[in-house]
Amino acid sequence: MDSLLSQILNDVKPLVGKGKVADYIPALSLVEAEKFGIAICSNDGEIYKIGDADLPFSIQSISKVFSLILAMEFYGDEIWTRVGHEPSGLPFNSLVQLEHEQGIPRNPFINAGALVVSDMNQSKFAAPDIAMREFLKKLSGNYSIQVDKKIADSEYEHRARNAAAAYLMKSFNNFDNEVEDVLYNYFCNCAIKMSCVDLAKAANFLANKGFSFITGKKVLTENQTSQVNALLATSGLYDEAGSFAFRVGLPGKSGVGGGIVAIVPGQFSICVWSPALNEAGNSLAGMAALESLTKHIGWSVY
Ligand code: GLN
Repeated sequence: MDSLLSQILNDVKPLVGKGKVADYIPALSLVEAEKFGIAICSNDGEIYKIGDADLPFSIQSISKVFSLILAMEFYGDEIWTRVGHEPSGLPFNSLVQLEHEQGIPRNPFINAGALVVSDMNQSKFAAPDIAMREFLKKLSGNYSIQVDKKIADSEYEHRARNAAAAYLMKSFNNFDNEVEDVLYNYFCNCAIKMSCVDLAKAANFLANKGFSFITGKKVLTENQTSQVNALLATSGLYDEAGSFAFRVGLPGKSGVGGGIVAIVPGQFSICVWSPALNEAGNSLAGMAALESLTKHIGWSVY
């Protein structure tokens, strides 16, 4: 595995730094574009890594997976009355479907969907941002995980689009709490910093029928795990979910911080990170690295 990772690093080197670091959140644009890391975590806890795999980065939309899972524990199938499970085929922050579909977002991995899930968590936890961090600490085994407050504040300052989605949903009665409170907690979740190793470990239960080798417990039932993986495969990369299935062939979730988590069911969880993004807001070198990795090993689930 180590020699394969070196080969992949070599293959994608010319692409590292190509693309554009997200700058619609000003504090996020300060990250160095040239970073690149991969971590692979086997279901028995073996870690393989290369490059900047231990450097914490802004997890951004990867947080949407974990906030959904937190909500699934409390709400079960009730979640699906407020958010759908269809791919949107549109950018992560698009508003056009939301009006047509009466304030019910297509899926929990676009911004509108994640905001509804955050609203549900807001109703259950006195401090949903702390609950989320504690959840990620437990799942990764890293108790020093923190929020980058500068990024959270920068997102809040530039919240117009996310606020528009949330208020539109409120007008359709699909939002229970104060919009501004939910927005800030949602931004705090996006601004959590974790490394590739942390994320590969924290997501490993998705490769292991819901069982976390770190906590020694089931995080989700087997059926719920399959449901989350199906959502990741169809909606985890927004309007690039089709290309990701075609090129990589795994359930996955990206974030505008340049991270992508991917799941090889029954075997491994993977996290790649490289901050420069393609047009769809997904890590350009990260996509290429995952494509090369799955082609070399024949890991596609299709
Ligand atoms: N915090 C970002 C936003 O709400 C998350 C987007 C992403 O990572 N795709 O715009």
